[in-house]
Amino acid sequence: ASFRKRLVMGNWKMHGGLEANAGLLADLRAGAGILADYCTLAVCVPFPYLAQARSQLENSAVSWGAQDVSAHDKGAYTGEVSAAMLNDFACTWVLVGHSERRAMHAETDDLVAAKAKAALAAGLVPVVCVGETLEQQDAGQTLAVIQRQLAPVLALGTQAVSRLVVAYEPVWAIGTGRSATPAQAQDVHAAIRASLASIDAAQVRVLYGGSVKPDNASSLFAMPDIDGALVGGASLVADEFLRIAAA
Ligand code: PEP
Repeated sequence: ASFRKRLVMGNWKMHGGLEANAGLLADLRAGAGILADYCTLAVCVPFPYLAQARSQLENSAVSWGAQDVSAHDKGAYTGEVSAAMLNDFACTWVLVGHSERRAMHAETDDLVAAKAKAALAAGLVPVVCVGETLEQQDAGQTLAVIQRQLAPVLALGTQAVSRLVVAYEPVWAIGTGRSATPAQAQDVHAAIRASLASIDAAQVRVLYGGSVKPDNASSLFAMPDIDGALVGGASLVADEFLRIAAA
C-alpha cells in the first residue's frame, strides 16, 4: 500500500466549542509537521467551526473538512449546507453516509451517493462511509450490505470513484471500544477493493473506522488494504490522534 499515502482523519462528531477547539487545533498543528511525510492528517469538524479550523490550520500539515453535505446545490432546504459553502471555507474533505446519519437521519444509499456526487462536482473529496450492524454481521451479511451501500456510488462512474475515499466502519465497532480485528477488517477492505476492480482500485484509499486507538492502530495499519483510519473519540485528544497518525 506504499503508493497510497496513508490518511488519518478525525471525526469530531458533535463535540467541541471555540475554546476547546483552539487548544486541540493548535496541538494538532504543532504535532503534525513531522508526520506529514508519511501520512495525510485531517479533521472533520462541525459546520460552525469550519472557519476556526481554517484559520488555525491554514498552511499546516493538517487539512479539514465537514461531516455532511447536501446533495442539492441551493434552494429551500432549511438546515442543509451545500458543497459550494464548504468550498468557501477551503474544505478538502467531507464525510458522507456516516452510520450515525444513515441510522438517525434515514439516509439511504442513493442519497449518500447523491451527496458524494455533489461533493465531487465541487472539487471536494467525499469520504464514503459503509459498514454493517451487529445483526447483519451475525447473519453473515457483511459483504452483501457493503456491496448494496456502495452500488449507487460505483454507478457514479470510474472517474468519480477514483477520486473518493471509502471508510469501512462496522457499526458495532463505532464508539464501543470494540474494534474489528486487523484480519477481520483486512478481509472486508480487500473485498471493497475488489468491488472497485474496474476502476483504478489500487489508487483508492480505504480507511478503517471503529474504536481506533493508539494501541491498536499499528496492527490495523499493517494490513495491506487498510490505508488509514477514520477516528472518532480518539480524535478529540490531540496526543491520541497524533499517536494514531504516528503508528
Ligand atoms: C466514527 O464514528 O467515525 C468512529 C470511528 O468513532 P470511534 O473511533 O469513536 O469508534
